[in-house]
Amino acid sequence: MIDSAVRVALLYPELLGTYGDRGNARVLLQRLAWRDIPAELVEAPWGEPAPASCDIYVLGGGEDSPQASAAAALIAEGALHRAVDGGAAVLGICAGFQILGHSFFGPDGAVRPGLGLLDCTTARRASPRIVGEILVEPDPAVALPALSGYENHAGLTDLGPGAIPLGRVDVGVGNGDGTEGAIGGRVVGTYLHGPVLARNPALADRLLSWVAGDLEPLDDAEVDDLRKERRQFVSAEAARWPNRKREAPFGWRGYRRRRMSSIDRPSEANFSV
Ligand code: GLN
Repeated sequence: MIDSAVRVALLYPELLGTYGDRGNARVLLQRLAWRDIPAELVEAPWGEPAPASCDIYVLGGGEDSPQASAAAALIAEGALHRAVDGGAAVLGICAGFQILGHSFFGPDGAVRPGLGLLDCTTARRASPRIVGEILVEPDPAVALPALSGYENHAGLTDLGPGAIPLGRVDVGVGNGDGTEGAIGGRVVGTYLHGPVLARNPALADRLLSWVAGDLEPLDDAEVDDLRKERRQFVSAEAARWPNRKREAPFGWRGYRRRRMSSIDRPSEANFSV
């Protein structure tokens, strides 16, 4: 348990903010506020040194080129490495996840070094690009309720022995081998946008408990209803497209045609916690 305010760092939102993942930081802060635990949002704008003294670091998704820039800066600065060495927790989404591994593809297709904070590499590309809803059954060792989100990526990720996946993909693609995401120590990577912590508050509380100790339970009845709706909708879509069960349940065009329900939209306006 820490005595001072829990500091949540949002890293380079200008670069890694394409998919509404800033909402993850807001969820962490709000769940602390609901428990009367002092908390502070520390935005780390692109071009300024990243803070090394925060408790939780959040990296969102982004396009290939900003992703490469963010990785290069974080490697050069070393702030995130120092924070992790000091016990900080990290959540990386999609581009943020790929950056945390040993290597990933740059915008030119060349392999770029990652931070090496997760034992994984993103060395394959899916074609066509993977876009759609994703459902994940967490690994028993991870002990979380089912996870839902949406994915939008080309890179596919292979885990090394130093990381375990978050879980097994029920609908969607995730890492590309039937698994999704990675955890190593207090570092978590996932392809799930949503924002993932708005859709899956138990994952938010897992990150918070690592830095703030035991947490009082919250009334998540409203988000539980939304989670149920998502699971039913995505499972029904997957059943309608059985030959695509291991792929995104519906492609980008179908995705748009369905005039995405509010929780799908990668926008902060849909943040409902
Ligand atoms: N640029 C990466 C990819 O396409 C990450 C995309 C994202 O963050 N959504 O794989």
